[in-house]
Amino acid sequence: MNETTNTASRQTGEREPIVRMDKVNKHFGKLHVMQDIDLEVAPGEVVVIIGASGSGKSTLIRCVNGLEEFQGGRIVVDGNELLPNGKSGKSLQTIRTEVGMVFQQFNLFPHLSVLDNVTLAPMKVRNWPRDKALETARKLLARVGIEDQADKYPGQLSGGQQQRVALARALAMGPRLMLFDEPTSALDPEMIGEVLDAMRELANEGMTMMIVTHEMGFAREVADRVIFVHGGRIVEQGPPEEVFDHPRHERTQSFLSRVL
Ligand code: ADP
Ligand code: MG
Repeated sequence: MNETTNTASRQTGEREPIVRMDKVNKHFGKLHVMQDIDLEVAPGEVVVIIGASGSGKSTLIRCVNGLEEFQGGRIVVDGNELLPNGKSGKSLQTIRTEVGMVFQQFNLFPHLSVLDNVTLAPMKVRNWPRDKALETARKLLARVGIEDQADKYPGQLSGGQQQRVALARALAMGPRLMLFDEPTSALDPEMIGEVLDAMRELANEGMTMMIVTHEMGFAREVADRVIFVHGGRIVEQGPPEEVFDHPRHERTQSFLSRVL
């Protein structure tokens, strides 16, 4: 492990981690954007990744569902192994169906209704009959508080509503792991709360989550573990009260002094 030990897997017993990254390295040309990343995420654990812009946070979580290739090390997600240089084979497809992701830009299909956005993947990828997909979609839309928007198109919704559709869409596949890359960064301030509320509820229900965010109050509240990334390395990690109130590393201290 890095400077602080990973206590999460001990707290949750002997179960296999959902995510295991072993010595993962990635380059963009000359830029060494991920350097010897070792990281385990236990079932039900909520990990929040913080760090300055350009530190490699997005790259790190995008590697977990195979959106980015890497050049060294390995990543195991729920028993499926991703290998360097695109050699993962079938496990890549499996991982993409088991891992849900919510982006800064909502990435909804603009020409599909809210309901069709949510039913599309279960019908296409899981071969669910339309009735079953619709029933699940309506439940999920209710869960994120937008059941009344089901027949609208994304362009007719506020940013906060669109992001909650994106969350429902990801949940429709029954993911084992949810990744979030700055899910509230593109939202007007008054809409941030409704998205964080939906995420908080998901965390409370026991979903395993990896979240990149600049919402430090939210991170403090929901994270089991906070990871500070700088220059493609995990510099420091620990429970939120440790990292936020007693950061050990000078880099963490200076980052937090700028954002808190
Ligand atoms: P963060 O999410 O922490 O802001 P990123 O993971 O997006 O950081 O980027 C880390 C570094 O990698 C940055 O210097 C960024 O410019 C660079 N980078 C990201 N994506 C690419 C790419 N597709 N090609 C080249 N460089 C990239
Ligand atoms: Mg980013």
